[in-house]
Amino acid sequence: MLLMLVVFSVIIYLLLNFVATMQESSISLFMMIFTILIIYLILLPVISQFARMYRVAKMRQIMPSLLSVIKCQDCNYVLVREFLTGDYVFKNVGKCYKCGGNLYIDAIYLTSEKKGKGA
Ligand SMILES: [Zn+2]
Repeated sequence: MLLMLVVFSVIIYLLLNFVATMQESSISLFMMIFTILIIYLILLPVISQFARMYRVAKMRQIMPSLLSVIKCQDCNYVLVREFLTGDYVFKNVGKCYKCGGNLYIDAIYLTSEKKGKGA
């Protein structure tokens, strides 16, 4: 990632250097240095942000997910969702949208399944 940035800045440097020699003035040389500085200031936070996002995405792929299984007392309705803070087995989590019976947490478990990149 850093190597890419160095290569990119060298290309810009050479390009601007070429322009500077064409015009042959000290003002253009100053402008060249100033432009490189601005590019660095803009690109560095953007690149570091992307690197951080990439690391988080990688970590999420490895990390197993904790799931809560919600069941209805009266009918066969079952819902599996991500574990939420405060979840425990036999906790009442509301009314069933199908029959109006009580929904409770039947099980909480970890999955070793790898997540997709989008999730
Ligand atoms: Zn139900």
